[in-house]
Amino acid sequence: MLYSCYETKIFHLKIGIIGAGIAGLASAVRMACRGYEVEVFEANPHPGGKLSEIEVNGYRFDAGPSLFTMPQYVDELFMLAGLEPKLHFQYERLPIICEYFWEDGTRLTAFANQEAFAKEIREKLNIVPASLQKTLVDSQRKYELTGRTFLEKSLHRLDTWFTKDVAKAILQIPTLDLFTSMNKVNERYLQDPKLVQLFNRYATYNGSNPYKAPGLLSIIPHFEYGFGAFYPKNGMYNITKSIYSLAKQLGVKFYFNTKVEEIIIKNKQAVGLKVNNESRFYDRIISNMDIFHAYKKLLTKEKQPTRILNQQKSTSALIFYWGIKKQFPDLNLHNIFFSNHYKSEFEYLEAGKIYHDPTVYVNITSKYTPEDAPAGCENWFTMINVPYNSGQHWDSLIAEAHKNIIAKLNRILKVELEDFIECEEILDPRTIESKTASHLGALYGTSSNSRMAAFMRHPNFSRRIKNLYFCGGSVHPGGGIPLALLSAKIIDDIILK
Ligand SMILES: Cc1cc2nc3c(=O)[nH]c(=O)nc-3n(C[C@H](O)[C@H](O)[C@H](O)COP(=O)(O)OP(=O)(O)OC[C@H]3O[C@@H](n4cnc5c(N)ncnc54)[C@H](O)[C@@H]3O)c2cc1C
Repeated sequence: MLYSCYETKIFHLKIGIIGAGIAGLASAVRMACRGYEVEVFEANPHPGGKLSEIEVNGYRFDAGPSLFTMPQYVDELFMLAGLEPKLHFQYERLPIICEYFWEDGTRLTAFANQEAFAKEIREKLNIVPASLQKTLVDSQRKYELTGRTFLEKSLHRLDTWFTKDVAKAILQIPTLDLFTSMNKVNERYLQDPKLVQLFNRYATYNGSNPYKAPGLLSIIPHFEYGFGAFYPKNGMYNITKSIYSLAKQLGVKFYFNTKVEEIIIKNKQAVGLKVNNESRFYDRIISNMDIFHAYKKLLTKEKQPTRILNQQKSTSALIFYWGIKKQFPDLNLHNIFFSNHYKSEFEYLEAGKIYHDPTVYVNITSKYTPEDAPAGCENWFTMINVPYNSGQHWDSLIAEAHKNIIAKLNRILKVELEDFIECEEILDPRTIESKTASHLGALYGTSSNSRMAAFMRHPNFSRRIKNLYFCGGSVHPGGGIPLALLSAKIIDDIILK
């Protein structure tokens, strides 16, 4: 045993959790480590929510997230339970973060090693290493000034604000690029349009638009180049499997195929859950479901935080899971095929449409886990960013995008991809919503296009209803696996206080 369980078994609490997404699972582990009795209700037959997997004709695919950063937040859960993380959850740091492709034939390998990456951009784009270095130093500086306060703590509690870290960040506001766009920050340091495009792409990591999102979002590259990009052994779904198995080991009870119908409120206090028309009583309730649906479906009689719920949503995704009966040695785990007109692509997304020349992302886990595809084949998770669902005619949009994506990949890779696709599954904003109850199929809750976005996410607790807490990608600090895991940590801190 590395560490003992939390030493805070002050009194017994019974905790009810709605949803076994990654934040629900992390909350379950944290509460169980405190010695509390925990029950989790999940509408799906399996844990993980967006972080799940599918199998098609002998191919395995991670269904949602494909990029893993900040693994320390997963390790921490094992350490809290007194276990050695490496014995239960393994991952490796990627030497190559991503392969980038442009239509004019330019190819760029984003090495994790900054010197190797600087050499690559000098050779391929003729850019002096200092430009890259300035960007990455700025990204790290912004992260160090704001990360601990804005990501690891509740923004909605006074004690967060009276700290040295906040005072330091406030003094640096003029240098945090809150009033300029991410694109402008990248143009300031990088000049070359291809490199600007590459660094603008980081806005999409939380479903935002680099031409609108504040320059403070340029902290995101630090997650990859500073802390590293990782691959969990046997794929992303192993994150879910490991945390789920830890929770069970700690005695958490799971109820699958079980949709919570109502949060029971008595005297402005959450006291239980209605499940299968029966009332079950708890001392604390943690909701991991999308905040919009939590209010609209489970808290229908309560006052709705309309301004927060009506925030602009993040983008969604269209994914083609393709079994490819060929191997592509030039491709890696993460591959990006850039649009010729990146700004137009985002203008289309803002207008609720799909651009005819989208940036295409191809994730191939069989590069690291060969068993994910039959011998001589590869499992392609092929994704483009699309708008959230506002009632578009998706079937025709998907057919059009399918054609455009294949044509683009054929042009760049000089193949006839149709000849090699032996099976296909599709995920679109409608199915993302129906499978995980994410409002309008948004991947990351609300978008971060406004400089106030961080303050407009729902707090991790209810101001009006006692003993009710919220975790997951649709509340503070936002979407993506690391932030969803942090939301569980923030709740843990608040419940303790
Ligand atoms: C296609 C795609 C690609 C992504 N790529 C990345 C990436 O590369 N890297 C990254 O870090 N993040 C990525 N993300 C985002 C990341 O997956 C999410 O931010 C994160 O998984 C959200 O976790 P969550 O805890 O909010 O729960 P969710 O995954 O949203 O799960 C919520 C759970 O609650 C359950 N639920 C809802 N209502 C009820 C109810 N009434 N009763 C019982 N259960 C209920 C749902 O069934 C679901 O299982 C991606 C997401 C998608 C969809």
